[in-house]
Amino acid sequence: MIKRLALLSVILMAFSTLPSQASQVEVLHWWTAGGELDALNELRSSVEQTGNSWLNFPIKGGGGNSALTVLRSRAISGNPPTAALLKGPNIQEWAQLGFLTSLDEIAANQQWDSRLPEFIQAQMKYQGHYVAVPVNIHRMNWLWANAKLFRQANLHIPTTLNGFLAVLPQLQAAGIKPIAHTSEPWADAILFESLSLSILGPQQYRRAFVDLAPDMLASTQMLEVFTKLRVLSHYIDSGARGRSWDQASQMLSEGDAAMQIMGDWVAGYLTKDQQTLSDNIICSAFPGSQNSFIYNVDSFAFFKLKRVSAATKQAQVALASTILQPQLQVAFNRQKGSLPVVNDIDTSQFNRCTQQSALAYQMALKQNTLVPTFAQAMATTSYAQAAITRVVNNFIYDKNMSAQQAVIQLVNAVAAAQ
Ligand code: BGC
Repeated sequence: MIKRLALLSVILMAFSTLPSQASQVEVLHWWTAGGELDALNELRSSVEQTGNSWLNFPIKGGGGNSALTVLRSRAISGNPPTAALLKGPNIQEWAQLGFLTSLDEIAANQQWDSRLPEFIQAQMKYQGHYVAVPVNIHRMNWLWANAKLFRQANLHIPTTLNGFLAVLPQLQAAGIKPIAHTSEPWADAILFESLSLSILGPQQYRRAFVDLAPDMLASTQMLEVFTKLRVLSHYIDSGARGRSWDQASQMLSEGDAAMQIMGDWVAGYLTKDQQTLSDNIICSAFPGSQNSFIYNVDSFAFFKLKRVSAATKQAQVALASTILQPQLQVAFNRQKGSLPVVNDIDTSQFNRCTQQSALAYQMALKQNTLVPTFAQAMATTSYAQAAITRVVNNFIYDKNMSAQQAVIQLVNAVAAAQ
């Protein structure tokens, strides 16, 4: 009897130390690589400090296509997670279907309207109400290069598009793999969008991928994009199939390939586990796109939770309230390789590539050369995005397809997706 009473008092003591409203948050995402995991852990421990627990719901696959498929089935069966990583027009699509909950109260308390850039606020709101919280700003149009390999081949890291295309065979002739690529469709789309920005410039890029203007999609400039993509496609090695983006970054860092074209989560990967960025890694804008900034804003959309306890709802509020706190913004983004999304955060302690990104972002804001990524679902509907990506992916791997045929397919695919 005495033993049972002692056990009971231990159990009661354990409960009395928990906050009365503790519950858990379930968060769906595709952050499973180095750097991404470190960043996610910052968010997780912030939530845990509120007394709530974290139920991780990772679905592997950079770009998030598999994650979104799983999300659809969970939501349709009436059992959505607390929050999910979603972006741009996808947020609007989910809100329109009635799945998302309003975050207006938290937004008002934390003054999101004055702390977030206006173009990002617009994407987080549906019919004027906040339904998502952004966590960062990634830049997409980067070229990552291994300086040692360039020195070895006696070549300069290219700054113009023609210079870039010219070094590909030169690197290969020196026995160096020119590009570390992952042949997943979303990564092919990243190659294509950086190339497009370089050739079209920001205004025409917007006409092509935001407005989906048929004359722009059918233009001679677009033909040039595919013509140059064909040249580039010959330097994608057969090992790209089945390689993940972080394996490609590892090749870059170990000197197995000279360049990678990918968003700046690469900086997060290369500084994972508290590593400092090696002097050997040079980050510069994708050649010819120096004055522009393709942005990718990771954000969490919050779901309407039905038949759950008040504690679970409270945990959801705790998660939404954590994301824009200045300490979390610094801790998370230093690990992720991205910029804080709220104004006035000091980035002087961030790695040099992220600092470079901060300058490029400020310049692009002033010059109106900030454009959304279509490859990572910020520019257009998920249907148009999927249609463009399919054409690009087919073109890269079907070497018999001509640039002219690709342009025709692009125009038709986009028209069918609208
Ligand atoms: C996300 C990034 C992520 C990348 C690779 C993108 O869709 O926006 O945050 O690091 O996929 O997983």
